[in-house]
Amino acid sequence: MPELPEVEVTRRSFADRIVGARVQAVRIGKPLRWPLGCDPASLVGRAVRGVRRRGKYLLVDLDRGVLLMHLGMSGSLRFDQDMPQAALHDHFDLVTSQGVLRLNDPRRFGAVVYCDSETAPEAVKLLGGLGVEPLEGQFDLDAFHAALKKRKAPIKQVLLAGDIVVGVGNIYASEALFLAGIRPTVSAARISRPRAARLHAAIRDVLARAVAKGGSTLRDFSNADGQAGYFQLEAMVYDREGEPCRVCGTPIRMIRQGQRATYFCPHCQKH
Ligand SMILES: [Zn+2]
Repeated sequence: MPELPEVEVTRRSFADRIVGARVQAVRIGKPLRWPLGCDPASLVGRAVRGVRRRGKYLLVDLDRGVLLMHLGMSGSLRFDQDMPQAALHDHFDLVTSQGVLRLNDPRRFGAVVYCDSETAPEAVKLLGGLGVEPLEGQFDLDAFHAALKKRKAPIKQVLLAGDIVVGVGNIYASEALFLAGIRPTVSAARISRPRAARLHAAIRDVLARAVAKGGSTLRDFSNADGQAGYFQLEAMVYDREGEPCRVCGTPIRMIRQGQRATYFCPHCQKH
């Protein structure tokens, strides 16, 4: 599943190239998770002002309105001047004067939703509950620790919920908890200030490094240029069940938390 770094890498791979483009046509394939929410023809002639990211949503700002794009479980975006004919899993094309932005999404949990503005009810429904951005200044340690203190659930699940801080998905939650030396099953409320500080730093570190590396290819991720990411080469615990911890040699363990696989080192990560 594309997580925050993959979405950010995708954004960076086409944002500069699409700015200033005019929409020439919109092609819709099979239904996605949510409908577009406007007549596709009404987008023709609008200009692309920029591409931002909020959590795992890309916001394609038009001179009037905004397209919210989500990659779902299996989506990927490509932006190219010479795009081949749409294939089976290509479900959305934004044809512009500078190239075609195409969503390929075999499982169709992704979506493209048009909103008149970011404050429109449909936008607020999707973006309103998101926590702070982990890579920006607003991700404040005091607020983070205070929010953790209010949650009794295991820290891994609190991170995944995304309402305290966005974008810490399954891979990066496991990796950040390893770096911070915290067992994923520990109640968030029991995490001390020094440990919260380590976790806060680890979240920023692991996400920033993943973005720098071009995201993860664990789910066949590629950016809008079609280039693969390399983060998985560096994973400390994720998907390494039974393999020796890279720090202490203890076999990495895998447990299930709320249907999701969690990986940790029983020696390096304390209760
Ligand atoms: Zn270890």
